[in-house]
Amino acid sequence: MARKPKKTVPPACTHCDTPAQLVDGSQVYPHRQDLVARLFWRCGCGAYVGTHKGSDRPLGTPANAQLRDARMKLHNQMVDPLWQTAIASVGYRPEGARATTIIRNTARAAYMNSWRGNSA
Ligand SMILES: [Zn+2]
Repeated sequence: MARKPKKTVPPACTHCDTPAQLVDGSQVYPHRQDLVARLFWRCGCGAYVGTHKGSDRPLGTPANAQLRDARMKLHNQMVDPLWQTAIASVGYRPEGARATTIIRNTARAAYMNSWRGNSA
């Protein structure tokens, strides 16, 4: 028996708690031909969030320009340097790209979870 594909639950807007609508890239970035085929979750207040490539799974929750900028700075200045140096800190050379990806993703998830816990 074939499984039904799971339907993605629309993410609630960070700012007004409204469920976002799925739109294509032309609705968010009308001048970016390279993003036309990508999907975004957009709220009526203008907040939006991208999706994982090839799916409609949101990358997070819809955010306005100020919050998107803050998230980008957080990743560039704090989160990315941590997961990018995780390989050096484990003390051995991972066997292949898959192991490297797992270590980096685990480090990133651990850091993001600790950050979420501290902000509550
Ligand atoms: Zn909103």
